Amino acid sequence: MSHYQKPPELYDGLRLHQNENTGGCSPRVLEALAKLRPDQIGFYPPYAAATAAVATYLGVAADRVTLTNGLDEGLMALAIAYLRPSVGGPVFESIVPEPAFEIFRFDTSVAGGRLVQVMPRPDFSVPLDEILAAITSNTRIVFLTNPNNPTGVSMPLEAIRTVAREAPPEAIVFVDEAYAEFARESFIPDLAAFPNVIVGRTFSKAFGLAGLRIGCLVGAPDRMDAVRQAIPVYSVNIAAVAAIQAALTDLDYLRDYLREVDESKALLYAACDRLGLKYWQSRSNFVLVSAGERLDALVEGALARGIYIRDRSTEPGCAGCARVGTGLVTHTRQFIAVMEEVLCAAR
Ligand code: PMP
Repeated sequence: MSHYQKPPELYDGLRLHQNENTGGCSPRVLEALAKLRPDQIGFYPPYAAATAAVATYLGVAADRVTLTNGLDEGLMALAIAYLRPSVGGPVFESIVPEPAFEIFRFDTSVAGGRLVQVMPRPDFSVPLDEILAAITSNTRIVFLTNPNNPTGVSMPLEAIRTVAREAPPEAIVFVDEAYAEFARESFIPDLAAFPNVIVGRTFSKAFGLAGLRIGCLVGAPDRMDAVRQAIPVYSVNIAAVAAIQAALTDLDYLRDYLREVDESKALLYAACDRLGLKYWQSRSNFVLVSAGERLDALVEGALARGIYIRDRSTEPGCAGCARVGTGLVTHTRQFIAVMEEVLCAAR
């Protein structure tokens, strides 16, 4: 069991290692924060308006949305609700197709569950048969991510439906959609037909709100009850409540960022082609690049020049790989210049 290593807190330099929006949030968010009144800060936060705004954005009824202190909190609550063993009972299992967001492993362990890893294929296409074969009567969560982190590769919605049909009735199929805006695709319209699926969303990435910690879970109210009980009361603070409502009024800001991400990915692919580096077509705001034996030179060379990228070489199927954030074009160009300099020197 590998435990989550908190990355160092780096506020200087260019952060391309945590898939954040390096352009930050919409100016409307700052205006909303500046307008918070003393009484709003003095009182525990109300959630109805923010929940309604998120539900409208996602196209679902408000009783299907649970706001969380970042999607990370939702993931931990889900693990506690569905994997915590009862005294004398079986050990419950989570299935994680690898490579995946490392928090799935961490939360499974914290909740007292058993991790069942499904190993990847070389092209990172969905190992559907292997996922289905890993399901047992003790499976309680199948963690799927679309598009995936760290690969950026998307999972066909039909594969998610197949897993949802095959999972035992007590289990939740969790679809992590932290990067759904970039893929312009979601399982949410399918939720009515698949009450055993819970979708997770975050406003840390496309909306640039990572510092305020706001995400949500979306699903059938009765399947979410146990999860809601595992979320500390008032865990989403008033700044996040104000921020999400303001951010959702500025979808032009989102559209501009999505355009930057698309252009950034095209630029990075072209640079990788020039340098003979392998990469995977990403539906997200980052790209997994295989630098092979030049990985250390790339990661350390970028660091020496103030650019942080994420070494993912110890993740299953990712030997020699780094994950690079592809947000604002100006930042991507900075990274590409450094990559060309460092790798040409390392030849
Ligand atoms: N799921 C995935 C796949 C992620 O990559 C992340 C963020 N790194 C999260 C969840 C957590 O997002 P949040 O900032 O909302 O906690």
